Amino acid sequence: MLVLKSPAGLQLLSEIRDGVRSHLLSIDAEAGVEESNRIKLLLSKLADARIAHESSPDEVHDDIFVLETYVKLVGEYGLLWRQLATSQFSESWSTLQNAFGLIRLIKRFSGINVSAIEDQLCALETAYPYNIFFSMGAVVERFECSICGKDIDSFDCSHRKGELYRGQMAHGIARNILRLDHLAIVEQPVDKRCTVTYANDAPQFEVVRYLGRLLSSRKLLASNFGGIAWGKRASPKHQSLGRNDPCHCGSGLKYKKCCIDKPPPQQDHAQILPTHSILERVAAGA
Ligand SMILES: [Zn+2]
Ligand SMILES: [Zn+2]
Repeated sequence: MLVLKSPAGLQLLSEIRDGVRSHLLSIDAEAGVEESNRIKLLLSKLADARIAHESSPDEVHDDIFVLETYVKLVGEYGLLWRQLATSQFSESWSTLQNAFGLIRLIKRFSGINVSAIEDQLCALETAYPYNIFFSMGAVVERFECSICGKDIDSFDCSHRKGELYRGQMAHGIARNILRLDHLAIVEQPVDKRCTVTYANDAPQFEVVRYLGRLLSSRKLLASNFGGIAWGKRASPKHQSLGRNDPCHCGSGLKYKKCCIDKPPPQQDHAQILPTHSILERVAAGA
C-alpha cells in the first residue's frame, strides 16, 4: 500500500512533518505534553486544507482524515507520558486505549508506518493492572448513519460502517436507546476503557508508578522506553531476615526453626528496558 492515496495528501504530510517532529522532541524535553498548541495548529492547518480541497477527489479527503488521525495520535502520545509522569495513571489508561484506536485507523487507511509507537505502547500496556473488562450491550431502536442520516441497517443507506466517504467515517449513531441489554465481565473486550478503575495511589499501579517516577526525574525519556522485562527475584524482605526473626511464611516460628532450608520466596519483578530513541524511527515513518 502506498503511504497515502493522493499526491496532495503526500504534500500535506511533508508539510506537517516538521511540526510532528518538534512535538515528539518536546515530549522528551518536558516529560510529556499536557495540551499542545502545536497539535491544535497542525489540526487547523488540516482543516484549512479540507476547505481548500473542496473540489478535489475523494482520495484527498481520505488522506486528510488519515493525517488528522496521525496528528491526534502524536497528541495522545505526548499526553500519555505526561499523565504517567504526573501520577494520573487511571487517566493514562484511557489515553493509551485512545492511542490504540487511532493506530488501528492509520494502519487501516494508510501505509504510514506507526509500528515504532505501536510496539512501544503494547509493551507499556503490560505495566497496567487491568485484566478484567466490562462489555455492555444495549437495545437500540435504530442506528442513524453519520453520513446520510438514514437508518444505517436499512437499504436506504448505501454506506458501510467503518468505511471512509470523502474523509468522513461512516458510523451508526444510536437513536433512542430502549434498554441496557447486558453487562458482562470479559477478558477480551471491544473497548478496554470499560474496566474496573483503581485510585491513582492504589498499589495495583506499582509498575506504572515506578515508570512515572523515572520519567518525572528524567532518568528515562519517553522515546527511550523499550519495554518491561517480567521476572522473579528473591524478595528484599527475605534477604534482610535474621535467623531469629519470625519466619516469612507466617507460621509464627523462628526462621531458623522453619523455612530456612527451603528456597527463598520469589516475587514478581518488573524491569524497565531502555531502547534507542524511537524518535528517528517515528520521524522516518512519517
Ligand atoms: Zn448512510
Ligand atoms: Zn516458615
